[in-house]
Amino acid sequence: NHLPSPSELQALVNDTYHQFRDLPGGENASYIPYLASVPSELAALVVVTADGDVYQAGDSDFGFAIESISKVVTLALLMEDVGSETVREKIGAEPTGLPFNSVLALCEHQDKPLSPLVNAGAMASVSLLKADNPEQRWQRILDMQRRITAGNVTLSEEINQSEQTTNFHNRGIAWLLYAAGNCFCDPMEACEVYTRQCSTLVTCKDLAVLAATFANKGVNPVSGERVMSRDNVAPLLAEMTMEGLYDYSGDWAFEVGLPGKSGVGGGLLAVAPGKCGIATFSPPLDESGNSVRGQRMIAEVAKALNLNIYR
Ligand code: GLU
Repeated sequence: NHLPSPSELQALVNDTYHQFRDLPGGENASYIPYLASVPSELAALVVVTADGDVYQAGDSDFGFAIESISKVVTLALLMEDVGSETVREKIGAEPTGLPFNSVLALCEHQDKPLSPLVNAGAMASVSLLKADNPEQRWQRILDMQRRITAGNVTLSEEINQSEQTTNFHNRGIAWLLYAAGNCFCDPMEACEVYTRQCSTLVTCKDLAVLAATFANKGVNPVSGERVMSRDNVAPLLAEMTMEGLYDYSGDWAFEVGLPGKSGVGGGLLAVAPGKCGIATFSPPLDESGNSVRGQRMIAEVAKALNLNIYR
């Protein structure tokens, strides 16, 4: 797949990690105490090839909150359930041009929430999953998080408790969705399960395997399991291109040229189709909500390996 030799790739990962691990700037998310308290100096960079080879540097086994990155996992599962065209029809494939938790997008576009990667569309996605009850809805998502990472993903009771008791804004979004006919289960169930899916602990390595699964056309290259159909990978990566890095997604496409997804827990991943997944972890975020060091590390690896898909 035109990647350099294992020793060269490991050297690139080490060098890039060391070059940017101390980069100043940004701040931890602080809307819940847990996120504010994660040591800001933790950092990791992991590349997993489409063949399943793993190259890592830094704190790659430290568990942190998946947060918004959970949206791509649920989206993959939803595409399996209903097909990508139904996702586009009922939720959408457009950037909102507004913050990830905006209610404005909902008021102005009552027909649908536009993107499954903003909160409104993510809760609509949760609500559209096939499930008979809230517990099954949640278990299906957790199971997909485990299969797509080949990792031991667990719910953090502490994060979940904190998120569930402060998610008033998201509850408001869920009711607006419901009022507009865009919530396909009880809106408080959609919000509660969405909040849980954001509250699991993942490692940087888990995220790199997740990204590598998309790079490998839906087969997890570490476990060998097909976790989604090949046909759903391209539309999923298109959604990531449009809205994966909040309102910085256009700049990210311009600069790096890889579909990506970030979360306010400090995780960031990018997918080089057919080649590899890249993931980083570093808690300080810029104003858009993306990891400051993570963006630089991924941009550097993408440039060194000539991964820009538009080139
Ligand atoms: N639990 C967060 C929320 O929905 C996720 C934030 C994020 O990572 O963007 O508010």
